[in-house]
Amino acid sequence: MSAFINLERISKSFGTFKVVDDLDLEIAKGEFLSLLGPSGSGKTTILMMLAGFVEPSSGAITLEGKRIDHLPAHRRNMGVVFQNYALFPHMTVAENVAFPLVMRGVSKTEAAERVARAIDMVQLTHIKDRKPAQLSGGQQQRVALTRALVFEPNVVLMDEPLGALDKQLREHMQLELRELHRRLGLTIVFVTHDQGEALTMSNRIAVFNAGQIEQLASPEAIYDHPETRFVAEFIGETN
Ligand code: ADP
Repeated sequence: MSAFINLERISKSFGTFKVVDDLDLEIAKGEFLSLLGPSGSGKTTILMMLAGFVEPSSGAITLEGKRIDHLPAHRRNMGVVFQNYALFPHMTVAENVAFPLVMRGVSKTEAAERVARAIDMVQLTHIKDRKPAQLSGGQQQRVALTRALVFEPNVVLMDEPLGALDKQLREHMQLELRELHRRLGLTIVFVTHDQGEALTMSNRIAVFNAGQIEQLASPEAIYDHPETRFVAEFIGETN
């Protein structure tokens, strides 16, 4: 896999508090990369810097070799999915998915085409006219993902997207997301504090501790050969 997105010597401070410290990270096209670590280790801040919602204090972010760290969020074309997926209750599934397109002034015809394509990709056509209250938690999360896919983004950035679901549904959605990743060839950066989730879902895992990567490797390598005491202890913990 070739380097697609590069974070080079990225640091981020809030006041005097350094949340991300001189981070280097390469993201390959088509990979499922998990950022795994305890709460407060800087995972969300990294995702927000990739998305363009938070500006790095120093360092560079490139996409296919071009600097993107000074571009506003809407010019980076990244899909973002949060845990509290914030669907609009008064809008149907199709209207929710269309919302980012409407916001950016895409024509009605193009919006309708894109929405239909995205909804078909995620196999939600049968519920496109329902309102969020008529959907299960899993279906709502699927709609949030569809909305993130509607611009055919370079990368899908997910922040604990399954955290609000109960265990059984979460496991089902994990399978579904892995299937979608493979089928659509998506590049996914997935933030989680759940070791089991990262181990089952990812091509690679970056284990974070206090704004730095302790180990970046395949799930097998992380599990079988943790390189630091922190990784060994964190992977060994059960949620
Ligand atoms: P994680 O996603 O690993 O839980 P975060 O990136 O959310 O970690 O946060 C890392 C640290 O940065 C936390 O201590 C958090 O309180 C702090 N932080 C995050 N955003 C801000 C902000 N806007 N202002 C001040 N501190 C922040």
